[in-house]
Amino acid sequence: MAGKAKNIEQEIAELRQKINQHDYSYYVLNSPTVADVEYDALMRRLKDLETEQPELITPDSPTQRVSGQPSEGFEEYFHKRPMMSLDNSYSVEDLRDWARRCEKLAEGRSFDFVAELKIDGLSLSLIYENGLLARGVTRGDGTRGEVVTANAKTIRSVPLRIETDRTEEIEVRGEVYLPHEAFERVNRERAEQELPTFANPRNAASGAMRQLDPQAVADRHLDIFCYQLLFNGEPAFATHLESLDWMVARGLKVNQHRKLCRDIEEVIEYCNEWDTKRDGLNYETDGIVIKVNQVAIQDELGTTAKAPRWAIAYKFPARQASTQLMDVIYQVGRTGAVTPVAVLDPVQLAGTTVSRASLHNSEEMLRLGVKRGDFVFIEKSGEIIPQVVKVITERRTGNEIDFEFPTHCPVCQTSLIKPEGEAVTRCPNLQCAAKLRAGLLHFSARRAMRIEGLGEALVDQLTSPRTQRDKKGDAVLDETGSPIVLPPLVANVADLYLLAEKRDDLLALERMGGKSVDNLLAQIETSKEAGLARLIYGLGIRHVGERTAVILANQYGSMESLAAASAEELANVFEVGAVVAASIFDWFNQPGNQELIQRLKSAGVKMETAQAATESAPKVFEGKTFVITGTLPTMKRDDAKLFIEMRGGRVSGSVSKKTDFVLAGADPGSKLTKAEELGVKVIDEEEMLRLGQ
Ligand code: NAD
Repeated sequence: MAGKAKNIEQEIAELRQKINQHDYSYYVLNSPTVADVEYDALMRRLKDLETEQPELITPDSPTQRVSGQPSEGFEEYFHKRPMMSLDNSYSVEDLRDWARRCEKLAEGRSFDFVAELKIDGLSLSLIYENGLLARGVTRGDGTRGEVVTANAKTIRSVPLRIETDRTEEIEVRGEVYLPHEAFERVNRERAEQELPTFANPRNAASGAMRQLDPQAVADRHLDIFCYQLLFNGEPAFATHLESLDWMVARGLKVNQHRKLCRDIEEVIEYCNEWDTKRDGLNYETDGIVIKVNQVAIQDELGTTAKAPRWAIAYKFPARQASTQLMDVIYQVGRTGAVTPVAVLDPVQLAGTTVSRASLHNSEEMLRLGVKRGDFVFIEKSGEIIPQVVKVITERRTGNEIDFEFPTHCPVCQTSLIKPEGEAVTRCPNLQCAAKLRAGLLHFSARRAMRIEGLGEALVDQLTSPRTQRDKKGDAVLDETGSPIVLPPLVANVADLYLLAEKRDDLLALERMGGKSVDNLLAQIETSKEAGLARLIYGLGIRHVGERTAVILANQYGSMESLAAASAEELANVFEVGAVVAASIFDWFNQPGNQELIQRLKSAGVKMETAQAATESAPKVFEGKTFVITGTLPTMKRDDAKLFIEMRGGRVSGSVSKKTDFVLAGADPGSKLTKAEELGVKVIDEEEMLRLGQ
């Protein structure tokens, strides 16, 4: 037992030391050396141990105080009311527990919650005397802040005077942040000046606010969202919402996204809604702050040493993690573009294990300055594959090794080219096996011809030369005694349709039993009916995405007319610009491509079916906007989208007043609730099919 206590004591001491170190890098240097998730995990572990052994809690433990400290060079200011941190919650269960605790302490008195976006920046207090901005103060350690008035004045949305006849001191608290654009610009400029870049907008904003030269601060273009109002250090009104309204009326900038929620379930719905919607904002939000609206109940609930009990932050799943970069591999894509990909020590991020991240191109590698063995921050936003965002130079040991971008294609050894003014390096060899491989995968993708049995491992085998084998599986030798090498089974997408006659060859491939061969051949057969739009998309013409493919299929109705169109004509098609038009025209005029189309046609791939469908498809959805949510009973989402677009409709990602129909399936998301709130018509798949007749 004594041994266990000793171990806990030691672990606590180590955790505190690590957290203090991270706090220093984060709050003082504005340059974290671990991602927030890792920091939060240390903090959670420390909290758990302290709950287990409360006698080990010390007042200076990081769990007991607001982190951060005033830096030198600024005058100190004691806050009238402490500027606190917030307790974090990571799951909806945490939120429900918190709501239950609030209810218990409120002893039967009713109250509601206000949910707001948690802006990822740094807090700032603005103190107005007789309506005039007298002081701008940072949070510091929560008790003592730094006077940064001149810097605060550089924020255009901070009014220097508030029109009011109130005579008390007015204190407005808010979050200073850096919009995405400004953040990117700052990092670009710093990279050009060979200064270390910031890991995230919050560190950049915080670094800016504490600069001694206000002109340098002004250059950063900081902004603020206000979220708290005090008169003489006391909450200004009986409810939090009234404070927000008062500030809005006085021209203070308050974030427009907030919701009064009657219960915690409504709060949870709001949190889920914003987890995806946050991508559309031009600033960073890392969660939702939930506050008890009634100040009387807030007083009842009180505060801990670090945070109020009447508020909590719900943190969205993290998008950043730090890990070690073990190597870089170079992938050759469909268009010959060579993409450097970082091979990482696997790390958990937003529910998946990440072991690869994109480095985009040689210029980006140079900008980041990555070396083999570096620790890096990786980030995953939206659906985009993870990216390396920053090298943690502080963690370098001196053993890291520089990378050299290849000069020759890693697959076919052709000399790579990097056209003047372009960031991308390409393999110019039209026959490059890597291009063929990527092209086949694209052609068979779910959004294109949907040949799902055609995975990476099979494509590798289909596109590689094969050793001829006898019935027993032994290699057949030629007269010189060397194994006979046969050409690859597939040299272009049209060859896929010849595979039905090469069943035995397929059976000879690794991991291809009778059943998988039958499945593959059946899918290849079905794909002939995929339709013109999917086929155009599947061909992988540069710049022709799914949407352009649908437009082209609608416009031309057949591959033949599309192939015959001039660049000028193509450029006149609605939404097809000159660059895309030139690319389509070039593709059809490249030797081999016309032949490819002919071969696909003679194999029986339908090239006019979509035309028939579109010609007969009445444009009943012309001018109508749809939003799709949930799982549809029979159609895949892409098919429903195509169905709508072929009838002249548009499919959008989010519900607004302008939405005409929400197409809802099983387990719909918050979009359905939003539709109901706005009174948008909700239909199911069956009704859509009926309307589209
Ligand atoms: P916090 O940022 O998690 O939350 C508290 C702050 O939220 C408040 O002080 C306020 O400034 C801000 N806020 C934003 N919008 C708000 C709103 N609408 N209403 C009220 N407040 C709002 O807490 P913190 O103490 O500033 O920082 C702790 C966090 O910082 C940790 O959870 C961790 O993720 C990160 N951190 C990371 C490292 C690292 O090394 N990576 C080190 C230290 C801290």
